[in-house]
Parts: sequence; structure tokens; C-alpha cells
Amino acid sequence: MPSKTLDQYLQENLQDLKNRGLYNVIDPLDSANGPIIEISGRELINLSSNNYLGLATDERLKEVAIEAVQEYGVGAGAVRTINGTLNLHVKLEEKLAEFKNTEAAIAFQSGFNCNMGAISAVMDKNDAILSDELNHASIIDGCRLSRAKIIRFNHSDMDDLRAKAKEAKESGQYKKIMVITDGVFSMDGDIAKLPEIVEIAKEYDLITYVDDAHGSGVLGKGAGTVKHFGLSDQVDFQMGTLSKAIGVLGGYVAGKKDLIDWLKVRARPFLFSTALSPADTAACLKAVSILMNSTELQDKLWENGRYLKKSLKDLGFDIGQSETPITPCIIGDEVKTQEFSKRLNEEGVYAKSIVFPTVPRGTGRVRNMPTAAHTKEMLDRVISIYEKVGKEMGVI
Ligand code: PMP
Repeated sequence: MPSKTLDQYLQENLQDLKNRGLYNVIDPLDSANGPIIEISGRELINLSSNNYLGLATDERLKEVAIEAVQEYGVGAGAVRTINGTLNLHVKLEEKLAEFKNTEAAIAFQSGFNCNMGAISAVMDKNDAILSDELNHASIIDGCRLSRAKIIRFNHSDMDDLRAKAKEAKESGQYKKIMVITDGVFSMDGDIAKLPEIVEIAKEYDLITYVDDAHGSGVLGKGAGTVKHFGLSDQVDFQMGTLSKAIGVLGGYVAGKKDLIDWLKVRARPFLFSTALSPADTAACLKAVSILMNSTELQDKLWENGRYLKKSLKDLGFDIGQSETPITPCIIGDEVKTQEFSKRLNEEGVYAKSIVFPTVPRGTGRVRNMPTAAHTKEMLDRVISIYEKVGKEMGVI
């Protein structure tokens, strides 16, 4: 039988995704990614960014970024271990360690490659990783890259984790065992049960790894989920991104000095990919300082999150079990979810649909990410549009 050409393969598969309502359309923005965005000449209220605190467009960050460009240029010029380490990178890492209350920290060019690099720097084929079934794609890929045995546990199910940790430990098959979880699950907005995870980790000698991409800047007075639970000295890897609440770009791990020293010699994106740019690094440094000095932005974020959640729930929408400002609006069917998001867009609200494979089949949702930068008037407009579209489509 003749093999398929690349063109045939792509056309068939793209069409199949479109038929099943799973094809993701990308809309380029003609504006900054703030609370109001412009797309194809239309202004829309934006509920789809991870710019939780509005720092992506903050004047203070822009100012230091411009200064950094003037002083250091636009590129770091090399990978960190050759001569791409600027004093700005060192200052950022020191600041991140202080922020997370750890001995040291290491910065990467993105959260994604941080997970890829950090997990595979420590775990190998003789090891096992207990991974929450809803963990982010970058964790899944980092685990795969390590070649450790991946043991998935049911989402936030501590009985399942305990049973699987016991079995892995008692099998005597693995040299090291890690438990890895998101701190905040971004599709549902729920928080990992870190106190129980840490307890199970102690019982079965597990290495602990928390990806706090969505908790940093949001929980624990800004320092994240681990601090929120008072566990700063009990989690080995406090991983985070610099691209969400921090508003810029990058990822990091904070932890003990030996761990960070090891990552600096073993994490491949750190060793083989050019360092964060001067502007990004300076802006991140400024953002972390702002977070460490005031909770004003977090307070506003939570106020907006509570208001949106309560209003949508009162209208009769299923907003799931979110414990954070993330507000999913669960519709279920993939095609209907996409249609709902499209109607919101036509009415002036940009809230993306999230469907399989990002979330399990049949749990399609429109995910709303209120930020500190939204005004009450903007949210009121969103709520009235939700009411209109919800009634029109028989969702409420
Ligand atoms: N971890 C989690 C939980 C995330 O949600 C994301 C981003 N979607 C990442 C890691 C990757 O971070 P970045 O966007 O900085 O690469």
C-alpha cells in the first residue's frame, strides 16, 4: 500500500479536528494584552490572559526594560554557561530565592523549558514519578524526557497517591521517587492539597516538585501556593513562571543551593539555549520586587475574581470548583462550547473555549481569567453579556 504524503496526512488530520470542533483558531492582537484588547479592528473585554496582576503593561516594568535595552542591548548573546550570564540574571535569581524563601534559584527562558530541563536533570530511567493526572503538558513532557517510570494518580486524590507511593516504594524497583503537581490547576482553578502531599512524601521518601505557574503572585501574599500552606522549607522544587502574574517571560526553580547548583550543570535548556533577554530579566526583577513590597494587586485580583464567580454562579452557570480567581464556565459539549465563546466574542467579550485535549472530553469550558486590571464596569458588562448568551443558547 502506498504510504501517505505529508500533505495528505496534514489535510486529513486538520479536517478531522475541524469536524470535531477541536481546531484552535489563533487571533492575533493589535494591542497590548491588557483588560481591553483589539482584534481585527474590534475592542473586546479580555478574559483570556494569564496577566493576572496587569503587570505585562505596567509602566514601572516598561521603564526598567527600556533602561536594560539601553545598557545591555536586546540579546544576552550566549547561553548562560558560556558568557550569557548578565549581572541582571544573577540579581533576578537572588531576588527569586528571597521571594520564595529558599537558599537559591535558577531562571530559565520559559516555564515550559524549565519543567523540561529541571525534571530530566534529576530523574532518570531508574526512578519513578508520581504525577497528578491533570498536570500541565510541560510537566508531562519533562517526565517523559527523564525516562523515569510515570505513575499517574487521580486528580488531587490523596488515597490514590498514598497507595501508589506505597506500592512504588515497597516494590524496591526505583532509586528515587518524585511526586509532582501543579500548585493551582489552571483549567479548574483548584489548589493542590499540598499539606497532604508533603505528608505522604515524608512517609515514603518522595522528592517534592510543585509547579506554581498559576499560584505565584496569586496565593500566599504573592509568594505562591507553597507559602500559602506554610511549606516553604518542605518542598524540594518550587517551580514557577515569569510569564503569568509576573507579566513577562521565563521560568524558574527555587530550592536548596545544591539542587540549584546541580540544575546549573545539568538542565539542558540552561546549558544549551540562549539566556533570557536583558529587557525581560530587568522587568522580571522589577515585578518580583513589586510583589514583595505590596499585596495591592493581589487584593484587587481576588476582589474581581470573587465578584465574577459569584455573579456567574447566581445566573446559574456551572463554574466548577475553583478556589482561585480563575473562573471556568463549564458547557460540556465541545462544539457548543466553541459556539458559546464565539457568541461572547460577537457581543464584545474575549473568553476562549478550552476543549479536549487540553481538558478531558465532554468537559469543554469557556475559561475566564479576571485580572487586577479589570474595572467593575468591565466585569458588569461581561456578566450582562453572559446572561444574554447563556439564555439564548439554553445554557442557563
Ligand atoms: N506550567 C503550567 C502549570 C502552565 O500553565 C504553564 C503555561 N501555560 C507552564 C508551566 C509553561 O510556562 P511558560 O508559559 O512560561 O512556558
